[in-house]
Amino acid sequence: MGYLKYYEKENEIFSDVNDYVNGLLDINTILIIAKKLLKHYKLQFLHVELSKGECSSFVFSKTWNVGLKLKFSKSRTTLGVICHEVAHAIEYEKYQISKHGKRHFRIMKGVINYSKRRGYNKYTNSKEQSIQSLPKPFELNNPKSNL
Ligand SMILES: [Zn+2]
Repeated sequence: MGYLKYYEKENEIFSDVNDYVNGLLDINTILIIAKKLLKHYKLQFLHVELSKGECSSFVFSKTWNVGLKLKFSKSRTTLGVICHEVAHAIEYEKYQISKHGKRHFRIMKGVINYSKRRGYNKYTNSKEQSIQSLPKPFELNNPKSNL
């Protein structure tokens, strides 16, 4: 299944955690949820990074387990995106490979269900939290501010 089709299917089935209008998470919330999930799945050794671009990813080297890390977009991360990337890490840890297939989908479904049980989906529309983590006023005038 091609990348786009996979994401389309995912966004359709898990639309409640992939709302790119109201469900975008601020950087604090991304880090909090990612670290909680990694701890639960015993993958807390993984590095978590925030990136400026719109894409999130699970980064690994095929030959060595070096540079394993999760990268999340500062501007376009939903709970669904976090679960998608964490599912890559879980699959990789277990099978030393991870791609967009039935297995990844099944694992991701489990991660989403776990997240909902723990109430992580309630963080999704937490406007108050987002407002609190906005940059300070003088930084708002600087669109290149790297917060
Ligand atoms: Zn993926």
